[in-house]
Amino acid sequence: MTIRTRFAPSPTGMLHVGNIRTALHCWLWARKTGGAFWLRIDDTDAARSEERFVEGIRADLNWLGLVPDGEERQSARFALYEARFQQLRDAGRIYPAYETGQELDLKRKIAAGRGLPPIYDRAALALSDADRAALEADGVRPHWRFKLDHAAPIVWDDLIRGPQKLDPATMSDPVIRRADGSWLYMLPSAIDDMEMGITHVVRGEDHVSNTALQLQMFAAMGAAPPAFAHEALLVGTEGKLSKRLGSLGVAHFREIGIEPTAVRALLARIGTSLPVEPLAESAALIESFDFSVFGRAPARFDEAELAGLNAKIVHQLDFDTVVARLPGGMGAVEWDAVRPNLATVADAAEWWGVIEGPIAATRDSADSDFLAAAARAAATIPWDGDPWHALTAALKAETGRSGKTLFLPLRRALTGRDHGPDMKTLLPLIGQDRAISRLSS
Ligand code: GLU
Repeated sequence: MTIRTRFAPSPTGMLHVGNIRTALHCWLWARKTGGAFWLRIDDTDAARSEERFVEGIRADLNWLGLVPDGEERQSARFALYEARFQQLRDAGRIYPAYETGQELDLKRKIAAGRGLPPIYDRAALALSDADRAALEADGVRPHWRFKLDHAAPIVWDDLIRGPQKLDPATMSDPVIRRADGSWLYMLPSAIDDMEMGITHVVRGEDHVSNTALQLQMFAAMGAAPPAFAHEALLVGTEGKLSKRLGSLGVAHFREIGIEPTAVRALLARIGTSLPVEPLAESAALIESFDFSVFGRAPARFDEAELAGLNAKIVHQLDFDTVVARLPGGMGAVEWDAVRPNLATVADAAEWWGVIEGPIAATRDSADSDFLAAAARAAATIPWDGDPWHALTAALKAETGRSGKTLFLPLRRALTGRDHGPDMKTLLPLIGQDRAISRLSS
């Protein structure tokens, strides 16, 4: 069996970190098993779907390195849904219903008043041909429901949640098609999963009850169902489903300098028993991926953890990987010198500015004699070996200063900052001329 997963976003907005995580897991499973990862654009809702979001989703996946092996879109598959719809209708598994939204609301309220769950009462099934004809003669167009089979519980062995069992009698027959002929999510998704040969459906646990309904649809269509893995949802650091997570996506990550590999390394591991590690290479993430490592508790997404992981990944990136994003002129030596200090690749520009100048140096007037001595020493020490060592040794001998009083005024005058890369690597890059001029100005 060739494994095939699909990521099925609705193009009604940009991907957020929760969807990205699902896409990543679909991709990881496909890569691990030598299978295929498909993108399915769930655009049956013409009113809410927008082409810019379709393009945005593709671009985001591309940036994340989760490039699909193929793509389908539901709006191109209506003929298929129509054919299956007719079959299921002929088989008595789909029936027309005529209640208005208001009538359904009222039924729910009455049920609630009696302490009953809000399950559709199947009144439409009791209509006679004459009743239906009368309604249609009045211009009432039906919407369509899938008739659940109440005979046996719906069971499956979820790859994350374990054995699942739901009683179909506790669920309403789902509306699958609106009166205007448009499709709701439920049936097209099951048809596509079947027709596309999807072997593993990975999605959030908010879809568990949909899975129960769709399992009956697969059975009604005579298809073996895919395996299901329902992931515990993602929560923010505050511990609840935060609004912020819904707006965090690739645009934000790019803006703040997060590497796609950092997003992958974090989202592959949170909510699992495996440690979050700064794995820049996908091979290790792919190899360790398995549904059995996922927990049932919500996965906690922490922006600070992502930033920390990002820094660790940036420290590993070699020059060739980042050169296109560095300021012109910055070479491998400079990159290697500054990268242990970077939180993002873009921060390299700041240190390139420090190397090249001009810098806004900060100096304390109490240090002016000391810095004048430093400028004189810089003109005489050898620059080909370790000028930082030579400079500080000479100044220590001359002024008796040591520790912070020796190093900090030099760092400030030479870089304009209190902290930064090791001066031993930075000073040769600043070079003798610039050093002398910064120490003496
Ligand atoms: N378009 C659906 C969603 O975004 C897909 C769910 C699924 O994976 O089946 O919720």
